Amino acid sequence: MAAITLKDIVKRYGDGFLAVKGVSLDIADGEFVILVGPSGCGKSTLLRMIVGLEDITSGELRIGDVVVNDKAPRDRHLAMVFQNYALYPHLTVFENIAFPLRLTKGKFTDDEIREKVERAAATLELQDHLQRKPANLSGGQRQRVAMGRAIVRDANAFLFDEPLSNLDAKLRGQMRTEIARMQRRLGTTTVYVTHDQTEAMTLGDRVAVLRKGELQQVASPRGLYEQPVNLFVAGFIGSPPMNFLPGEIDGGTMHLPIADVTLSADLRTRIGSRRVVIVGLRPEHFADAALLEESKKASAVTFDADVDVTEWLGSDLYAYIPFETSHAVADKLEELDRDLDGEGMRTQLVVALDTESRVRDGDTA
Ligand code: ATP
Repeated sequence: MAAITLKDIVKRYGDGFLAVKGVSLDIADGEFVILVGPSGCGKSTLLRMIVGLEDITSGELRIGDVVVNDKAPRDRHLAMVFQNYALYPHLTVFENIAFPLRLTKGKFTDDEIREKVERAAATLELQDHLQRKPANLSGGQRQRVAMGRAIVRDANAFLFDEPLSNLDAKLRGQMRTEIARMQRRLGTTTVYVTHDQTEAMTLGDRVAVLRKGELQQVASPRGLYEQPVNLFVAGFIGSPPMNFLPGEIDGGTMHLPIADVTLSADLRTRIGSRRVVIVGLRPEHFADAALLEESKKASAVTFDADVDVTEWLGSDLYAYIPFETSHAVADKLEELDRDLDGEGMRTQLVVALDTESRVRDGDTA
């Protein structure tokens, strides 16, 4: 096992496209780090550079203490687990796991191979399935065989590239837990690429958020949720996504399209001399006033909402509330919301209410 260190890593493709723009990241020995971001942000490119499938244009990549920029993939001792697990259908589980050892041509005796495969199979709870073919395994078992292959090679780290994106939602959930459990048990350094923020938030010790080839923030899932460094991270993490509303500052009051809010001394200091700000409000931080306890009402900001559509999901009730932004404010917002690629100009608020709420489509609540 080993730490992985990226220093100012840049990738410029042959056609001149700059896919990764100077990424620095320290991944500790045994850590589980997620690379997440929208399609095209450069996360797969970064992973492929770590594993050695893609040249590094500039910067330094270390595995343990060794600079590996110019080392061939096999000399980096990393194990990549692909989306389709890349198992051989005609080989048994035993032979699939043994495969990388057989490739070393004579480095291991048959007895050594047997011992290594059996040890890996026991760790992964596959010992009863060694004579089966991949077609006769569950998705979770196949995933473990793919990990078994990585384990027998005593890899320095596991690298996963969107391993669950082909699966249905239920299986994806099961496999997510399985990967988390196995990684914890093995304690192997792991880098995992996904565009799915649920995977990012549930699997990793730390999550690195990428956008257009640049690292935005590296933090624990909770750190990203509670203290996003910019509007992009704030809007990317959380489901349904954070609402962004324009706020017009008028002395100690902030006018939002839905209500006027009295600013605390702390907020006034942070806002300084700005006249227009973007306010981020998470859907789950709203409640139906009719259900709010008396003690909480005093400190809450209450407003009348014209509910357009509601969605009942069993665990939550989402209500969509349209709002309007004055032209004057919208113009000023444009320069503030460049982090959102225009998505910030949303015209409706999404709130997640308790399912006990009686709010329905077309209500004023
Ligand atoms: P996705 O989630 O869609 O797989 P990603 O974040 O993994 O996206 P990459 O595959 O790393 O993105 O690609 C990053 C950018 O580099 C994209 O804009 C892509 O079009 C570009 N790119 C990838 N491979 C090449 C290539 N061989 N030549 C030129 N540009 C490339």
